[in-house]
Amino acid sequence: MTFPLDHLNAATTPFYYYDLHLLDATLQEVREASAYPGFHVHYAVKANSNPEILKRIAASGLGADTVSIGEIHAAVSAGFPAPKIVFAGVGKTDAEIRTAIEIGIGCLNAESEAELDAIEEIAASAGKQAPVALRVNPEIDAHTHHYITTGLAENKFGIAMSMLGKLIDRCVKSEWIDFRGLHFHIGSQITDLTPYKILCERILEIEAQYPDVEFPTLNVGGGLGIDYDDPDAHPIPDFRSYFKLFHDNLPLRPGQQLHFELGRAIVGQCGTLITRVIYVKEGVGKKFIILDGGMTALIRPALYQAHHKIQNLTAAATASVADSDVGTRRGASTATPAASTATPAASTNPMVTYDVVGPICESSDTFGTDERLPETHRGDLIALRSAGAYGEVMSSGYNCRPLPPALFSR
Ligand SMILES: *Cc1c(COP(=O)(O)O)cnc(C)c1O
Repeated sequence: MTFPLDHLNAATTPFYYYDLHLLDATLQEVREASAYPGFHVHYAVKANSNPEILKRIAASGLGADTVSIGEIHAAVSAGFPAPKIVFAGVGKTDAEIRTAIEIGIGCLNAESEAELDAIEEIAASAGKQAPVALRVNPEIDAHTHHYITTGLAENKFGIAMSMLGKLIDRCVKSEWIDFRGLHFHIGSQITDLTPYKILCERILEIEAQYPDVEFPTLNVGGGLGIDYDDPDAHPIPDFRSYFKLFHDNLPLRPGQQLHFELGRAIVGQCGTLITRVIYVKEGVGKKFIILDGGMTALIRPALYQAHHKIQNLTAAATASVADSDVGTRRGASTATPAASTATPAASTNPMVTYDVVGPICESSDTFGTDERLPETHRGDLIALRSAGAYGEVMSSGYNCRPLPPALFSR
């Protein structure tokens, strides 16, 4: 990814910068890699609900996966047709369920018997059948961080395997429920595909367990991970292997539809948090880079001990100016307009070890410890990469800080 420094330097930091070309290329790859019969991809709106991003994803033809009425409204405004929107979440309120049914949502993914009670009651009073799938907790360890593992017995999500039979029976018999099938979501930032293979086996076991029940739709959720360590090496996740795994391991019944709900894998790499260095502080045996954007702009490091690749864009641009000077002196005819673009690679500045921190009054407001960066100065622009998913959406106004705005590549 390259960064248009002149454009970025003119903006007030911190802000999110979205590379829409990368988003489009990612969506194109999703379309091509998922082109198997019966496959449908939904975008998990909670990863990034920026209206510009949503519009682009809706225009590409994907459906939407939502977890609140606010997300449903955002999806509808962005152009997702209601039948292509699914609605998940352990705590849907009556008002949310009613609106979802009224607008003709594609599916409610129900997570408990109590929720089925509410859905039936509301559907009956609206005089309209509710499309319902049951979210199953398949009890699979996705080998991921415990905060973002959702498919284990101890998690709050989904219906336990032991209770499933009873609830399937209830849905099938209900006058007010149009039973759509089964829903799963085993976790997030899954980079080894093995848990998905186990999921396929588990789904086939469940289907075999209920031979008389029709499951028109199977929804395998999302969770495909991205490369946070080296975003430029893997700007687009390996969608081919991901979709092929399901095609190879989950044979569909005639007419059966397979749904996916990808969030991070679609938007993660196209977003970057751009911040500016306020101070370089000399500590005791340590140097700190203090940024003007912290955990209120990007909370993942504080919340999940996540790490985003940190790059000094100003130092990178200086380095590329030096490179192109050399090129000019050698008589190269195509010297790039390097001063205005930073391709963060090796800089000519000496490398220094820093702790990179935000300005918020919390010790967890740290983006990196012992980071090796080119020598950094007050005023430099710093990029926190791979921040397109669970970045801007999770920003807060803590410390009365304004929410970071969004800039887009042209
Ligand atoms: C969060 C979530 C997703 C998307 O997860 P990613 O890891 O961003 O792909 C999909 N489905 C459900 C039900 C979710 O809660």
